[in-house]
Amino acid sequence: MNPQSLLSAAVRKVLGSLTHVVTTDAVLSLTFDDGPDAENTPKVLALLEKYEARGTFFVVGKSAAGHLDLVRRMVAGGHAIGIHSWDHRAFPGLPSRERRRQIRECERALQPYVGHLFRPPYGEQTVMSRLEAFMMGYEVVGWNLNSGDWFEPQSSVMGKYLLEMVSPGGIVLFHDTLYDKGVPAHGVDPEHTAWPDRQAMLDALETVLDRLSGSYRFVTVPELLQAGRPRRSFWFKPSLTTA
Ligand SMILES: [Zn+2]
Repeated sequence: MNPQSLLSAAVRKVLGSLTHVVTTDAVLSLTFDDGPDAENTPKVLALLEKYEARGTFFVVGKSAAGHLDLVRRMVAGGHAIGIHSWDHRAFPGLPSRERRRQIRECERALQPYVGHLFRPPYGEQTVMSRLEAFMMGYEVVGWNLNSGDWFEPQSSVMGKYLLEMVSPGGIVLFHDTLYDKGVPAHGVDPEHTAWPDRQAMLDALETVLDRLSGSYRFVTVPELLQAGRPRRSFWFKPSLTTA
């Protein structure tokens, strides 16, 4: 590797967010944000178990604190656990000290099960918040395939889109629950209310597992990192939160 590409790789490691890995292995990481949730997380876990798939859960600390039984079930099933902040506030609008507190409090709630993966709420971060996550020892995980499950009410639309777009080494975004229930869908349009019913997501997830489990292996994000060359992109979004 020449000095310029070494430098670029180092900068990407510090400031880039993982979107997928480059591999010829048919591996895929299914990721689930915003849980745990007493009603829906067990349904996701049951589906993953049925298809012998492993997933990665980016949990909200405040919810995890009340559902450690579900966190333990994730660990027992071989799934990975990442941090999705303490109470799901958009990071770009928060002062640095509060952002670090959001990560630390979530870590504390997840002990001893916490790994080194972090996904900022709404996928939103600034250069500074990304740097803070690096300083705290975290890999920031984005995605390269978005199920759209926080606003799409039809499982057939979601399932068809996912089957068409999926590719080896990919990271797929799902939500086992929605932390912001009943508010306008973040980042979509203000008229469009977040879709709280998880049945469409569960049906689309089952479609993906059922159709692809013969050809793909569903692995955790740490396992995905072992399966190929990580691709990290500069993923910075201003806050879409107006409040
Ligand atoms: Zn979220």
